[in-house]
Amino acid sequence: MKLGIVGLPNVGKSTLFNAITNAGAGSANYPFCTIEPNVGMVSVPDKRLDKLAEMYEPEKFTPATIELVDIAGLVKGASKGEGLGNKFLSNIREVDAIIHVVRCFEDGEIVHVDGSIGPKRDIETINLELIFSDIDILERRIDRSAKAAKGDKKFLQEVELLGRLKTFLEEGNSARGFVCESDEERAILAGLPLLSAKPVIYAANLSEQDFGGGLDGNLFYQEVCALAQDEGAQVMPICAKLEEELVDMSPEDKMLFLQELGLQESSLDRLIRASYSLLGLISYLTAGKPEVRAWTIKKGTKAPQAAGKIHSDFEKGFIRAEVISFDDLMACGTMAAAKEKGLLRLEGKDYVMQDGDIVLFRFNV
Ligand code: GDP
Repeated sequence: MKLGIVGLPNVGKSTLFNAITNAGAGSANYPFCTIEPNVGMVSVPDKRLDKLAEMYEPEKFTPATIELVDIAGLVKGASKGEGLGNKFLSNIREVDAIIHVVRCFEDGEIVHVDGSIGPKRDIETINLELIFSDIDILERRIDRSAKAAKGDKKFLQEVELLGRLKTFLEEGNSARGFVCESDEERAILAGLPLLSAKPVIYAANLSEQDFGGGLDGNLFYQEVCALAQDEGAQVMPICAKLEEELVDMSPEDKMLFLQELGLQESSLDRLIRASYSLLGLISYLTAGKPEVRAWTIKKGTKAPQAAGKIHSDFEKGFIRAEVISFDDLMACGTMAAAKEKGLLRLEGKDYVMQDGDIVLFRFNV
């Protein structure tokens, strides 16, 4: 699963990317590795996994990971090939969800491409490029379906649907806000490679003062929230600069520094966790002396397919899953106590896995 950081130039994308990179490096349990200068693997922080590690003292600790890409260089006109437009749009095509960084900090030293801070305008600039690119795709698809409809009437519905979506986009809306009228329509659209349909979190990049000073009175932040609400998207306040400063500090200094600013925690962990859930992902956990590990699955995955994540043989020979929820295990203190209380459940092939399930799969070889 891939997550892309997008935004206009000078909004703090690289600062955020680097903060996440280096924050990972500072914690041995949650490694981060940079694959290319702008691509890295991020560990998904998970307190449940930490607790299991305390319980089992495992030889190996493996958190869930997602791939993070810093997609720089998206500017006005990208969809018409401005800058390195096409390359960046194709980078966005490859990601599953987007963190859209929005500049909400004022700093005379750091040039804004449009001369002033304007979160709504900035978001719309980026979104419009994605929308233009989607309209091009739709036009081609409509032509093709219209031709096909001459021979086969079943394509008429597709032509009508795509036309309706195109009008919606031409009004400046992102495809993610389009409401389908049936499952059939949803299935047609799911097959289209639309950029503006990708799930998004708006990361409002605030100044250090504003970040620590309460968000209700912050007009820039409120502007982002209003826009996100219309789209049904999430907003996450961050301060990329602050996160960058935190990276080099000892845990104690970090706590003190955050407390001075009236903050409880760094916002990176929250952002990563929110992105994970935005991608529709959950984790099930396996725990033992050799390894404590989180396994990433899509929400709604059934037990045999979840087992297949560990090894395809587990799926093929699936017999049952022995499952206990994290909370039940913690309440009992040990696996033996949980078993005695009958809290370890036997689940069959139709069991839908839940986030935080601790599992042992039984299978035939
Ligand atoms: P990008 O072009 O979006 O990747 O932006 P960068 O991450 O390179 O940031 C551009 C400049 O803005 C750098 O000089 C950063 O140090 C600065 N910057 C990033 N975030 C903040 C912030 O929250 N506050 C302030 N004052 N400066 C920031």
